[in-house]
Amino acid sequence: MADSIMKQMPTGKKGKVYLVGAGPGDPTLITLKGLNLLGKADVVVYDYLASKKLLDHVPKTAKFIYAGKRGGVKHTHTQSEINQLLVDHALAGKNVVRLKGGDPFIFGRGGEEIEVLVEHDIPFEVVPGVTSATAAATYAGVPITHRGYTSSVAFVTGHEDPTKPNTNIAWDKIATGIGTLVFYMGIKNLPNIVQKLMANGRDPKTPVAVVRWASTPIQQSVVGTLDTIAEVVRTAEIKPPALVVVGEVVKLRDKINWFEKRPLFGKRIMVTRTREQASDLVASLEELGAEVLERPVISIQAPDSWEPLDLALADLADYDWVLFTSLNAVKNFFFRLREKGGDSRTLGRARIGVVGRATAEALLDYGIVADLVPEEFTGEGLAASLVAQGIRGKKVLIPRALKAREILPRSLEEAGAAVTVVPVYQNVRPVGYEEQLRQDLRDEEVDVITFTSSSTVSNFLHMLNARDADELHALTKDIVIAAIGPITGKTIRDNGLQVHIQPASHTIPALVDSILAHFSTNR
Ligand code: SAH
Repeated sequence: MADSIMKQMPTGKKGKVYLVGAGPGDPTLITLKGLNLLGKADVVVYDYLASKKLLDHVPKTAKFIYAGKRGGVKHTHTQSEINQLLVDHALAGKNVVRLKGGDPFIFGRGGEEIEVLVEHDIPFEVVPGVTSATAAATYAGVPITHRGYTSSVAFVTGHEDPTKPNTNIAWDKIATGIGTLVFYMGIKNLPNIVQKLMANGRDPKTPVAVVRWASTPIQQSVVGTLDTIAEVVRTAEIKPPALVVVGEVVKLRDKINWFEKRPLFGKRIMVTRTREQASDLVASLEELGAEVLERPVISIQAPDSWEPLDLALADLADYDWVLFTSLNAVKNFFFRLREKGGDSRTLGRARIGVVGRATAEALLDYGIVADLVPEEFTGEGLAASLVAQGIRGKKVLIPRALKAREILPRSLEEAGAAVTVVPVYQNVRPVGYEEQLRQDLRDEEVDVITFTSSSTVSNFLHMLNARDADELHALTKDIVIAAIGPITGKTIRDNGLQVHIQPASHTIPALVDSILAHFSTNR
């Protein structure tokens, strides 16, 4: 008890404030230092432009404060309230990360926040970030400087109304004195900005690129010249946040534009796999340029009882074969084995069969090389290989999901094996996200939904809870449906939906290849 009182009393030691640049939008563009600091934060105060995905790296126990400021939209906190928040938490002994979009000292009012900390004698550090100007240029295929075109670059605020009499910007000097000009916060004033540059002597044919949400999957960019860009932006309805890049270097975009040319750029793909299993699929799709909506419709939980597995573990030495039909089965089997004091040696003479390559790889983590990986990555494929080897009279253990297809145990029994099936996990449908899922389909303009097992299909449909076939079709209209293989595909068709993408081999790489092929031929 004394201990808990101690913890609540202010120690008198001040915390430290870290002003961290979050980078331009793609969360992986944060610095390693910034990421490490997020992992140790007690309090994080974050902005509208800092990627929300970065918050996944902050301890769940931390306090999250949104201090978003967005041009034209009511501010959640004024600047002096934000300054006060930083001071108060630091004085309370907390480690505070102040996470700001781009670089904290480039049009981010980072300097003002630090000045207040200095006044209160609060320790601080500043971690630079990739500023959106360089990111926008880079991700629009524009090298911000280039020996053949320009040897100077300036970052300019476009927030200031250039028509006001006492401007802080020397338009007469920057218009022709600087090679590349990048305007932050310049969308509203764009017509005035280009006017000012031309009036001060910049060639009206100077190329200009405008880039919105740079470095993110929803990046949008348009190009024009000083005399056309305001109209181009108006027609394309480009809204903030966007940057305006002015200069001859913009010409190089025709050659260099790489980001928007990735094959799945602009495609929004829903991944319904469990969060634990989704990472390979998500990473591959993102690498190809897609925007991924992670909507797990399955969560994996321990079985209600471990007793059946515990009994089997006690006679593990008697089994001829142990068969794993999923990654989760491998993980949960070994988790329980360890809990009961065993390890991979407990498997003794039993031979190990798996349903596919991913399961075989998961076993390697436990020091086990599978004895049997079938040619065809399905329960049928595994059963056929075992039957071909001769399974009559053999004892087989199948640790697997509580509910699963019966084809494997049944085929082996028919071939004369003594099969024990034990649940090592159960697939549970998450609750509370049903409305969200319907909303996603209605609002998010989803291009593709991926299903990686029959249970993802049935859970998805259950959560969608369509009134009838008509509503189901309305909700999934124009969406490309991708199944990982024939069995999942059949479940989809049995539920009255069409399957547009279905690789022959049952693997994530094959699924990704098939999605790619679909969009290459349907471009
Ligand atoms: N400190 C930030 C800038 C904050 S000012 C940085 O270093 O990037 C806010 C302006 O930055 C926006 O109005 C917009 O002009 C620009 N901006 C920030 N992120 C952007 C992004 N991902 N794409 C385009 N512009 C962005």
